[in-house]
Amino acid sequence: MTVGVVGAGISGLALTHYLQQQGIETVTFEATDRPGGMIQSRTVDGRVLELGPQRLRLAGPVKALVSELGLTDELREGHTDQPLYIYHDGAFREAPLSVRAAVTTDLLSWRGKLRVLAEPLTRGPQPGESVEAFLTRKFGHEAAHRVFEPLYTGLYGSSADEMLVEYSLGKALKRHGIEGSILAAVIRYVLQGRDPPPIVTFEDGLARLPVAMANRYADRIHFDTPVEAIESAGDGYEIHTPDGPTAVDAVALTTPAPVAADILEPLEETLAGTLREFNYNPIVMAHLHSAAELTGHGCQILPEAGYTTLGMTWNASMLDRDGVYTAYLGGSERRQLLDRSDEEIGAIAAREFEDLHGEPADVLSVNRWEPGMPAYDQSWTALDRLDPPTGIDFVTNYTERAGIIGRIADAKRTAERLAEP
Ligand SMILES: Cc1cc2nc3c(=O)[nH]c(=O)nc-3n(C[C@H](O)[C@H](O)[C@H](O)COP(=O)(O)OP(=O)(O)OC[C@H]3O[C@@H](n4cnc5c(N)ncnc54)[C@H](O)[C@@H]3O)c2cc1C
Repeated sequence: MTVGVVGAGISGLALTHYLQQQGIETVTFEATDRPGGMIQSRTVDGRVLELGPQRLRLAGPVKALVSELGLTDELREGHTDQPLYIYHDGAFREAPLSVRAAVTTDLLSWRGKLRVLAEPLTRGPQPGESVEAFLTRKFGHEAAHRVFEPLYTGLYGSSADEMLVEYSLGKALKRHGIEGSILAAVIRYVLQGRDPPPIVTFEDGLARLPVAMANRYADRIHFDTPVEAIESAGDGYEIHTPDGPTAVDAVALTTPAPVAADILEPLEETLAGTLREFNYNPIVMAHLHSAAELTGHGCQILPEAGYTTLGMTWNASMLDRDGVYTAYLGGSERRQLLDRSDEEIGAIAAREFEDLHGEPADVLSVNRWEPGMPAYDQSWTALDRLDPPTGIDFVTNYTERAGIIGRIADAKRTAERLAEP
């Protein structure tokens, strides 16, 4: 059996790795000249910048993969226990991510904190409910708006009133086995004395992980080879690229939905149409350098503060990255930012950094991701109609968990399933 893998981001590479482990032949096609997809690290003026995810949590599936690739000794540990801040009412206030911070933070009033304790009395997600409505019903308006909404929606650039809980947060809770009270689950976790997995990266950035996989399987990954179409051929499929057709028994797609739609159009128009329904939010980010000595993982900025910056990772503090700060701008509410030049975006990020932190910042780089991240708005109800034919699999950040841990676990599960007789 040969599986054709479309895309050499973390999903496609991990799938290539696990299929090899299962003794299944693979042929992987990547449109660009480099591995990693959204995981990209660059060195600018001697400083390591992450264009995608900023760090890894060394959870089970990641730890195992890092070890299988012989990279354990290259890991570089970050500061797992630093605070995260939320900018509210003119000041940075600590997010209540520990018992101590939950008691001491001035982000919430006492009334707001007490309201959180009523969460176990509330019901789980309801059909058609927005993330905003769900979190407000569970934790009260103050905690929902100042803590949970910015922490959850930040990655997707969506506003909580647009996101459907059933297709986003609700799925995440289910995956963690949380069907009832979220607060009770958190308390159980704390009482068991479990610590979150450590935050890690590599000396030259996270791209070390995809690069290691690409090197190991160099003989079966074709770079600069975009897949243009997939067609039926006998009992299997033909993958069409500019180099010609390749016959495979099964195909695994890892590309964003709009790209998958174009590729699958010749095979199944209805499936392609469904994939085209999904809305994405582009991500705009600016890497800054500043002498500001901030301690923490970063910050989220509440929308009413009026900044274009939605949040920042303080790489300088979390990962000891020499004065580097990563700002995320725009989101679903400020799409017009995409019309601005990189210089203009960099200038906005630097100006707002100085305004927020009282220290100047220089722009190191500006980067955009399009289509970006799934918006998980009303358009994602189309996920219920996503029904690929036998032998076509989606191993993607929109059919399963988005993050690196989820991508690796999804690839492993898919490889095991494809190996079943
Ligand atoms: C700025 C940013 C920060 C993030 N932070 C976090 C975080 O903190 N936590 C978290 O959980 N997640 C985070 N993510 C999300 C996470 O990085 C992604 O969900 C994950 O890396 C997606 O990996 P993937 O392999 O599924 O897809 P991708 O990385 O998108 O890979 C798809 C690959 O397919 C290739 N391709 C496209 N078209 C074709 C074609 N026609 N033929 C062949 N190949 C093609 C692409 O070039 C790409 O290499 C972040 C993402 C970004 C951009």
